[in-house]
Amino acid sequence: MKNLLYFSVILLGTVVMADENVCDILIKNTKPIITDIDKRLPIFVWAHIPEHLTEQQILSYLKQLDERKIVLLTGWRIPKEGEKTGIQNALKIDMIRKQLNLPVFIDASGIVYMFFDGSEQTAHINDEGKPFFDTSFSKEVKIGCPFRIETRYRVIAERIENFLKAYKKEGIDIKYWAVDWEVDGPIEWNNAWENSKKCMVCRKNIKNIDDFYEFQKAVRGKRAELQKEVFVKTVSKYYPECLIGNYAVNPHDGYRYWWDYFEKETKGAIYQKKQDALHRKWFDEFRYSGYTMAMPVIYTWYRFFQDYNFEPKEYRWFYPLMKEATSVGKNTSSNIPVITFVHWQTVSKPKNVPADFVPLSRGKYKELLWHLLLRGHDAFCLWSPINEMAEEIKVVHEVYAESLKYNDFILKGKPVFWDVPEEPDTIISGMKLNEKLLFIRSDFKEPRELKIKVDGRITKIPVIKEPAIMEIK
Ligand SMILES: [Zn+2]
Repeated sequence: MKNLLYFSVILLGTVVMADENVCDILIKNTKPIITDIDKRLPIFVWAHIPEHLTEQQILSYLKQLDERKIVLLTGWRIPKEGEKTGIQNALKIDMIRKQLNLPVFIDASGIVYMFFDGSEQTAHINDEGKPFFDTSFSKEVKIGCPFRIETRYRVIAERIENFLKAYKKEGIDIKYWAVDWEVDGPIEWNNAWENSKKCMVCRKNIKNIDDFYEFQKAVRGKRAELQKEVFVKTVSKYYPECLIGNYAVNPHDGYRYWWDYFEKETKGAIYQKKQDALHRKWFDEFRYSGYTMAMPVIYTWYRFFQDYNFEPKEYRWFYPLMKEATSVGKNTSSNIPVITFVHWQTVSKPKNVPADFVPLSRGKYKELLWHLLLRGHDAFCLWSPINEMAEEIKVVHEVYAESLKYNDFILKGKPVFWDVPEEPDTIISGMKLNEKLLFIRSDFKEPRELKIKVDGRITKIPVIKEPAIMEIK
């Protein structure tokens, strides 16, 4: 979700809040955590620790963020003109994390673009032997041929390796390494299929190119291979224990329940239709890329509001997000941490919205975050434009702090409910530990006591507003 937004975020950051950086906002809007977090993961915020700070400032920010159990990222980037290397700035921050014994989380997005760099060697080839590109994803990105991208592997891997070597030399441990790598590389949406059919290299490599699923498998398979070869193998060579992931790459039930800002419908692709929403058949990119953490996306995309016609309207947000959350939680094995990108305030909202527009309320968003925790999601990774960050961190931090009371359930319990009602109704999520159940319910219909089976036993779920523990009888 970020490349384009990054620029507006940076602009807002410097113009609107000239004296406040992201660290100030996060610190001002949260309180130190005094509860023991046990083995729970912290809250991750997908924002960089500013580079221009003095060592003393960095030290002070990192300490205060740690008191709040908030982890920010160190951005790796290509040096600007006149700079010797982009590595020094990153090292400056992470030498201090090392000194404070804090986990290092790297956002390497800045150095992994562009695989498709517009060079002729990466282009599709038409029947006349002429190179051509697909610009239907972004005017700035010339998407080329999935089968001619390998020439770029070495270039990008070397950039990553240069950073890794410098970190190793300083004895810095990297605990998390992730990218927000999206519109750059083989993708099956927009005009990709149409273009691939016109390319002789694609036709040679995809047996039944007229079958969308065959096309999708081939293209996503290539995308997964690229990530494995360039990201996962390179990082794990230096840091075998490091958790490695990419935005929106996660295990799932075979479908994706949301659309990213750059994706458009492809005619003839495989969908399940629900009202006006198209749930897309999805390839298991996670498995073939070899990532060691899942990073699903739970954002309130504006599109949901139009695609569904549920009443009450808040179910238009809740339904697809619970479908996605459940798909990931249920299908990810327990040894893979699920670190979920979250955002509450409507994403990609147009300037003019219909008069009956209803956003997801703060209360229902809090419930949604609870459902995630009780359906196998391990941690939140907050993404937000800087002007929405204050409100966003408050609500995520609130849920996180409250959830620490239930560490036993969240760490050792077993999720027992996976149902997402097809029409507005009550949604229940719960973790069972021994003979007890920690549960949350969200009501989209007149609240009533429900009888539901837990491990074969009928259990009565009372009407409650907050998460609660009950005995299973
Ligand atoms: Zn091609």
